[in-house]
Amino acid sequence: MPTSTTTARADLVTPDAGVACRSHLSREPQEPPLANGSHGTAESLATACALVVCIVAHLPHHVMDAAGIRGWGLALVVAVAIVSGARAVARAPFTLARSLHGGPSRATALVRWARSESTTVLVTIVAGAALTLPLYLLLRATPAWWLPAGLLFAAVTVVWQLAMPVVIKAQAGPLSAPPGPLVERLRDLAAKAGVDVPGGVAVAGKPGSRRCNAYVVGFGPARRVVLEQGVAAWPPELVDQVVAHELGHLRMGHSARRLPLTLLAQLATLALAAAVLSFQPLLDWAGVAHIGDPRSYPLLLVAGAVIALPARCLLAWRDRAQERAADRFALTLLGRPDHFAAMLQRVADETGTPRRLTWWRRLTATHPPVDERAAATSSFDLLPTGA
Ligand SMILES: [Zn+2]
Repeated sequence: MPTSTTTARADLVTPDAGVACRSHLSREPQEPPLANGSHGTAESLATACALVVCIVAHLPHHVMDAAGIRGWGLALVVAVAIVSGARAVARAPFTLARSLHGGPSRATALVRWARSESTTVLVTIVAGAALTLPLYLLLRATPAWWLPAGLLFAAVTVVWQLAMPVVIKAQAGPLSAPPGPLVERLRDLAAKAGVDVPGGVAVAGKPGSRRCNAYVVGFGPARRVVLEQGVAAWPPELVDQVVAHELGHLRMGHSARRLPLTLLAQLATLALAAAVLSFQPLLDWAGVAHIGDPRSYPLLLVAGAVIALPARCLLAWRDRAQERAADRFALTLLGRPDHFAAMLQRVADETGTPRRLTWWRRLTATHPPVDERAAATSSFDLLPTGA
């Protein structure tokens, strides 16, 4: 998912407005075998170093001077391309190692890696240019750019929220009718939870799919619980725990309560960014007179990531609190902590969700680690629900 303070996330959708509840089972990063926590951190650090090198070495300046580029639009595209290339080079040792790990022949893996990286760089350039052109238009137009930018981000957030059911369907595959007993169980659970789910339950994905997630999608009478094939195939007592957790999010109106804080955090982050990015010594360091100069692009990325971090941590902290509340709701509703713990173990086994997180990854994690959630069930004592 994208950076939470600058773009919308699946979390932002509003089930109470009848759109979609976030998925809850495996939201934390699932890493390939070679990308364990330390490798992932090293890769992130390498990427950050590449961006800093672009700034310190005034790389965009040199390339643009050598190419004689004048227009700011073309200059921005070139700046995006330079940064994308530098990032790909910095990540190469890690992406290459992953491609060579357990693949077919070395030559085939190399060809695949080169093709994949070329595509990534190309997509990054096109998407980066498309996203940053409007931003640079604002940066160049007014010192109060953060206000219209805030409106723009808010609009993107809401549009993403409305589009989420379509995105989820595209990711999960076609919906199909569930087995009869599952329909009955959902109806009973919803009634017990005091939640209206007029659309009932559906199963997403092709038969035999191993995808394991669950969410609520749809407006008003079309609102329904969706279980992916992997979850729908679990024993009924575990499926009940998943459904009860989702009903908890609905009952407590979590998504609707998340939107105002998200929009506020976005606006505050943009206001802070406007203040920081007008600080002349910082601009001098990057070799630009004004942040609207396209050569500031690598500085914008680095400063943006740092400035957005507090808001990301705040929103993630709120998300984790809501997850714990939904867990408590399910435990209270069903009164079977043993089944809930078994469900969490199954999630960890089948999705590769890390059982523990390092403290720095925990800062921006939307869910508490699986082990922590499981431990909470062992001390469960019919705690009151509420986010
Ligand atoms: Zn959840």
